[in-house]
Amino acid sequence: MFCGRGIVLASSIVLGLWLAGCSAPEATSPSTSENTEATADRGAETEGKKKVLTTFTVLADIAQNVAGDKLVVESITRIGAEIHGYEPTPSDITKAQDADLILYNGMGLERWFEQFLGNLEDVPSVVLTEGIEPIPIAEGPYADKPNPHAWMSPKNAIVYANNIRQAFIELDPENAETYNANAEAYIEKLRAIDAQLEADLERVPENQRYLVSCEGAFSYLARDYDMKEIYMWPINAEQQFTPKQVQGVIEAVKANDVPTIFCETTVSDEGQKQVAQSTGARFGGNLYVDSLSTEDGPVPTFLDLLEYDARIISNGLLAGIGDN
Ligand SMILES: [Zn+2]
Repeated sequence: MFCGRGIVLASSIVLGLWLAGCSAPEATSPSTSENTEATADRGAETEGKKKVLTTFTVLADIAQNVAGDKLVVESITRIGAEIHGYEPTPSDITKAQDADLILYNGMGLERWFEQFLGNLEDVPSVVLTEGIEPIPIAEGPYADKPNPHAWMSPKNAIVYANNIRQAFIELDPENAETYNANAEAYIEKLRAIDAQLEADLERVPENQRYLVSCEGAFSYLARDYDMKEIYMWPINAEQQFTPKQVQGVIEAVKANDVPTIFCETTVSDEGQKQVAQSTGARFGGNLYVDSLSTEDGPVPTFLDLLEYDARIISNGLLAGIGDN
């Protein structure tokens, strides 16, 4: 049950600390074509390769980029699935029995994971948020537990890629060179996205950098890019867009003159559209968080997801500058 107001204004005082660790841009604009190929032509080439499972599509895509053609990588949950409260099927368990490694997000994202892993004998697992400073959830049933959506900040995604590289080198030391090279190339693309987003947001006046979403999935992005968060509920659970949550966001949007609001693709945006109607704020679109899209959708890869969201957010905020 959610009893709180559904709103948090995250402080950005730790920003300096985070930016200090940020590397200068050194890459050209990211390309994702080789990744699409990597996931597309698995078929006949799986023989003799070790099998890596991930808990959701975002992790599978990062892992596939680091693995190249040396490992078989698959996601347990499918595209568009609700990943927090997923209920694994018997066939998920069967499929995982012969995995050589399972990669998961941790920070409490996969509430089903511990039990799932308990069904498997001796399959090693590696948590990918190791080394990321968690942001606690402010309220609700998961209050004070870490917000699990760490991958949503390109700066954190670099940590994921490095953790995957390390896990693969331990799993398959013979191909260490490939994993190192692939991880480096991928991290360069993440740095380019990071630099672009920073440059775009710099054009938005500081007092107008509000990121209004449905799920509070953008805490890390807000922390790393000096934005304030307003959301309808802290983490996807049973209670979504209750009248109280909607009212809370309406009040916060009005109080701060927020020009543009957003929601996410895996939940209903109905509540946020009510907010737009009552406040006159523009609905800026649905962001991708917990899942990639299908191949023919807008974000078949994680780099696409980060770029897409960055574009929607900065366009939305920049469009609002003239309004206030
Ligand atoms: Zn989520």
